[in-house]
Order: sequence, then C-alpha cells, then structure tokens
Amino acid sequence: MSATYRDALRAALLYLLFSVVWLVIGDWLLSSFFDSSDERLRWQLINGYVLVLLSAGLIFIARARLFHCLGIGARLRERKADRERLRQAAAVFDCTCEGVLVTNTEGLIVHVNRAFMDITGYQREDVLNKRPSLFKSGRHPPDFYQAMFSTLDSLGEWSGEIWNRRKSGEIYPQWQTIRLIHDDDGRPSHYVAVFSDISAIKKSEHELMHLAHHDPLTDLPNRLLFTDRAEQALASAQINKRGCALLMVDLDHFKMINDSLGHTIGDQLLKAVAERLSAMFGPGVTLARLGGDEFAVLAESCPQLVQAAALAQRIIDGLKEPFSIDGHQLFINTSIGISLFPSDAQGAEQLLRNADSALFKAKNAGRNGYALYTEELTAHAQHRVEIAFELRRALDQQELRVYYQPVHDLKTSRLVGVEALVRWQHPQRGLVSPAEFIPVAERTGLIAEIDAWVMGQACRQMCLWQLDGVALSFVAVNVSSRLFARRELYQQVAQVLRETGLEPSYLELEVTESAVMEDPEVALEQMHRLRELGVRLAIDDFGTGYSSLLRLKRLPVQKLKIDQGFVAGLPWDEDDAAIARIIIALAQSMGMQVHAEGIEQVEQAAFLLEHDCDLGQGYWFGRPVPAVQLDWARSPEIR
Ligand code: C2E
Ligand code: MG
Ligand code: MG
Repeated sequence: MSATYRDALRAALLYLLFSVVWLVIGDWLLSSFFDSSDERLRWQLINGYVLVLLSAGLIFIARARLFHCLGIGARLRERKADRERLRQAAAVFDCTCEGVLVTNTEGLIVHVNRAFMDITGYQREDVLNKRPSLFKSGRHPPDFYQAMFSTLDSLGEWSGEIWNRRKSGEIYPQWQTIRLIHDDDGRPSHYVAVFSDISAIKKSEHELMHLAHHDPLTDLPNRLLFTDRAEQALASAQINKRGCALLMVDLDHFKMINDSLGHTIGDQLLKAVAERLSAMFGPGVTLARLGGDEFAVLAESCPQLVQAAALAQRIIDGLKEPFSIDGHQLFINTSIGISLFPSDAQGAEQLLRNADSALFKAKNAGRNGYALYTEELTAHAQHRVEIAFELRRALDQQELRVYYQPVHDLKTSRLVGVEALVRWQHPQRGLVSPAEFIPVAERTGLIAEIDAWVMGQACRQMCLWQLDGVALSFVAVNVSSRLFARRELYQQVAQVLRETGLEPSYLELEVTESAVMEDPEVALEQMHRLRELGVRLAIDDFGTGYSSLLRLKRLPVQKLKIDQGFVAGLPWDEDDAAIARIIIALAQSMGMQVHAEGIEQVEQAAFLLEHDCDLGQGYWFGRPVPAVQLDWARSPEIR
C-alpha cells in the first residue's frame, strides 16, 4: 500500500473516531440536559448537522490534502496538463516551419502538418495512407535506405541529409530526423519524421563556394581552385605516368589600356580574353585567372614539350585577333611561360613558380612569345613548333615529294624494286630530310596523312611503271610505328589499293622492328590482316630492336632489312660482320628474304653477296631520286 493511501486510511479512521466521540459526548450531554425525548431528538439532529457542517468545513479546508491522499487532484492536474500539452503540440505541429510526417508501423502515413504540405506541394488527402517512398528522388542507392532503417532499428532515431521529390517533380535536399515512437506497453507504434527544406542553404553554400573559388570578373577558377586542381592533376599524372604542362599567360602592356581607356574597358577586355581562351580549350585543360592580366592554363595530357609549345603558340595566335570593345579595336600581345611536369617540377606550387620565372624570361626576350622553364629547350621547341605548323601547310600546298631508291638483286645485280622515301621541298630551306620532319609529324598526328599520301603516290607510280613495261617486283613504303598499332591502317591500305588499282603483291610495307616489338600481339593481328589483303611485309632496321626469336618466327613477314648501322662496318668490323651473318642465317632459316640497306661500298655488297644476302640497297647502287631519274639500266658489277 502506498504512503498516500495509508495517510488517507489513517485520516478516515481518525475522523470516524472523532465522529463517534462527538456523537457519544453529544448524546451524553443532551441526555443530562433534556428529559423529553422529543427535545433530545431535536438536539441530537442539530448535533448531527453540526457534525456534518464541521466535517464539510474540515473537508473543505483540507480538500487539497484529501484529494492528494485520494490521488484525485493529481489525476485531474495531469489530465489538465495533458490537455495543455496536446493543445501546445497541435499548435507547434501545425505552426512549425518544419515538415512533420507520421507513419504507423505498417509504413502508412497517418499525419502530416501544414509545413509538410507547403514544402512538398502535396495535400493531406494526397498522402494519407500512402507510403513515404512516394517522395523518393531516385538519387540515393538502395543501400542508403537500408543503412537508414538499420540505424532506426538499432538506435530508434536517424538524422541526415536526404534528397526527396516534390509533387512538382523537383528534387530538393532535406535535413530529416526520423524517430521511432513506442506505446505505453513499449511496443513500436509510429515513426515521426521532421524535416526542413535545405535547398536554400545548399544554394547559398554553393554560391559561397563558387565565390571563394572563382574570379568574380571572368568567373574563371581563381588561384586557390587552380592550385587545387593542379595538385589533383599532377597526382593523377604521376599514377598514369603522364606529362602535364602549366602555361602562365600574361597580356603585354595591359596597364596601358587601363591607363589610357579606363578600368571599365580594361575589365571588359579581360572578360573578352577569358571568353576567347575558354573557347580554345576542351576537356583536360583548366583555365584560371590568377589576378590582374595573368591567366594560367593547365594541360593535363601534354607528354611532349613540343605540344606545350604548340599550345602556347595557339594561345598567342588566338589572342592576336583584335578585340572590339565599346567601339575600340584593341590589339594585344601575349607572353607565356611554360613549365613541364615532371621534368621541371614535382608539385603544383613549384610548377607555378617555374612557369612564372619562364614568363619573366619570355617578357625579357621581347614579349609576344613563349619561353620554357628550361632554357635550352625553348629554341628546340620553337623549331619543332615551326616545323609542325609549316608541315600542315606543306601538305596543303603539295610541297611533299616522293623519292625512290633502287633495290638490287645481289646475285644478278638487276634492279628489282624501289623504296619510296618522302622528302619536303621547302620553299626557303630546299629539300628537307624526313629524319627532321617525320618525328614531328608523328607527334602532331600529321603522319597519318603523310603516310597515306606517300602510299597513294607510290602505288600510282608503280602502276605507271608497269604500264611502261618496267618489270619491278615491288615498291616498298614505310609505315610509321604510330600508325602500325592502329586498326585503320588495314582500311587505309585497302583503300589505296582500290583507288590506284595496283595488284597488292607489288606493294611492300616496311615496319620497323621496334614498332613490331612494342606490342607483338597487336602487331601479329595487324600483320595477318594486312597479309590477307595480299601485300608483302618487311621488317625495317632489323637488329636495332629487341626481337624475340620466338615471336619473330610467328610473324607473317617475307623480308628482314638489315639495318644500315651493321652494314657500315662491313666487311672489316668483326662485330658487324658477325651480326650480318647471323641475320642472314636467321632470315633464311625462317624462309624470309634478307635485304641489306646502306650499302655505300662494293666491299660491303661483295661481303653480303658472299654470305647469301638476297637484296641490296644503298648509295653504291643509287641514291633516292625522283621517279623520272631512276636509271633502270644500271646493274653495277659486284665482283
Ligand atoms: P629507312 O626506311 O630505313 O630508309 C632508309 C634511309 O637510309 C633513307 O633515308 C635513305 O635515304 C638512307 N640511305 C639509303 N642508302 C643509304 C646509304 O647508302 N648510306 C646512308 N648513309 N643512308 C642511306 P631517308 O630517306 O632520310 O629516310 C630516313 C627514314 O625516314 C627512313 O628510314 C624511314 O624510317 C623514314 N621515312 C622516309 N620516308 C618515309 C615515309 O614516307 N613514311 C614514314 N613513316 N617514314 C619515312
Ligand atoms: Mg625503310
Ligand atoms: Mg631502314
């Protein structure tokens, strides 16, 4: 029994005792004063009334204590407080600007508040008895929801950011807290989700981030973001063994424009420069404004310095076109400093510093140009960029020529074939050797066009010779290693054969040994496809690569060309002699023809003939010459 009930019992017993005593004493007093029973009865009644009144007074005075003892007041107060709390909760539920949604344990919505309707656009009747999955945005994977429910199960509460969909279909972020509610018996009864729409916060967060990382005038990344991106790019370049280039671009004499035309025009010019620069680059290049008239360009895949230099030249040329601003035609020149990763610097900060000092060099060298951080490379790169630029023009203006070098059968001395070798008839520099421009063409991608053109010319020329009755066994053309790995080569060769009408067996393709061994599996596949076309295949510069004999054996090749480096020392250099002998033996054992190039002396030809080499090519037989200058009748006597 509780203390309250004990107190109440004690009070009731006391009261009973008091009442009995009162009545007994009252009765005794009345019986001693009144003889008449009527009188006594009247006074007894009055005495009873007084007792009732006294009791009522006592109860009134001690009602709080009494109610407390009986537990009635507490219940009443509790009920009142409950009602108050419910009223407050209902008001909060409805007035709060956070959306509230209540589901039962079956996951069906049983309550939503006004803010819910304002935020989601759904009316109460749209969602009651539906499941909250109605609001799914599709932006979270299933494991997100699994993790949410498992937290709810284990902790009874989950809070986090979640993307949901409004009735309009718009997806927006919410900050949501979901709580599991239990009934009086401790069993789960409801889930209450309270959420706020945080799209405005997100937007301002995003805007703040943008402001912190971008230049307000041009909207380009600022130094902070640029350095960050550069660091990421370098990290990825390191992993992928790629080269990057950082170009620091500065407008020459920009201050003069600001001073003479005012800052508004200056600002407009900077914006126009930013727009023009942005239009020049695609993905993989980050452009930033570092401040004032200084921009930075990060090229993420720039393995060669010649590419970085070409990019710089493109920027310089691109900004040369006048800017038309507020009725003014503005011409600007640009200076660029280039720093390369990993050769010049290992980190982003250092790369920026080096590009800056290269820029200083470019400015000192008379502006309107670029400079590399490593000085010796500047001139070299400039020369290469000039070649690349001019080579494009050379192709368009048909400045390339094909020369043919005779190939003789060593046993009969007869001219049996020719090798087509490209030349560049430069308008100022005269005949330029392929050794100078082929590597540049390979780096700039122009090689595909050059090789296709040479192949076409050679096949056409061969057809003409055949029409003239010249009996040649083959015309050989060189295929760049850059093209050899590409699938298009097969189509390219097929197209040339189709267009020129040359019988495929007269065309010989020379591929260098290193190109073949770079990726022997691809080479094998490529060679089989080319063989299917019916063309002949030769391995050029044999002996300079590292052929695996096993692989060599599997290649569908008809000829090995001994590199001229081994022919040069013949017949006196013992090493060269041994190597030449081995290559000849190797070719013979594999059923291939063997062809020596670079024969300049009769002794070399004699040695090769003596060791059963099949074919010979070199200045001793004849230099590469234009088609019309070939001497068909020449068959020099070797012995
Ligand atoms: P290659 O295919 O090994 O060509 C032989 C080179 O040796 C030619 O140089 C030729 O002129 C030279 N040569 C021939 N006989 C002698 C000799 O007796 N002594 C000396 N010292 N040299 C001799 P060229 O024409 O300068 O070509 C150099 C290389 O350029 C070629 O080497 C070839 O790899 C490449 N090339 C030439 N034309 C083309 C072409 O149309 N496409 C491609 N992709 N590469 C080409
Ligand atoms: Mg060759
Ligand atoms: Mg060669």
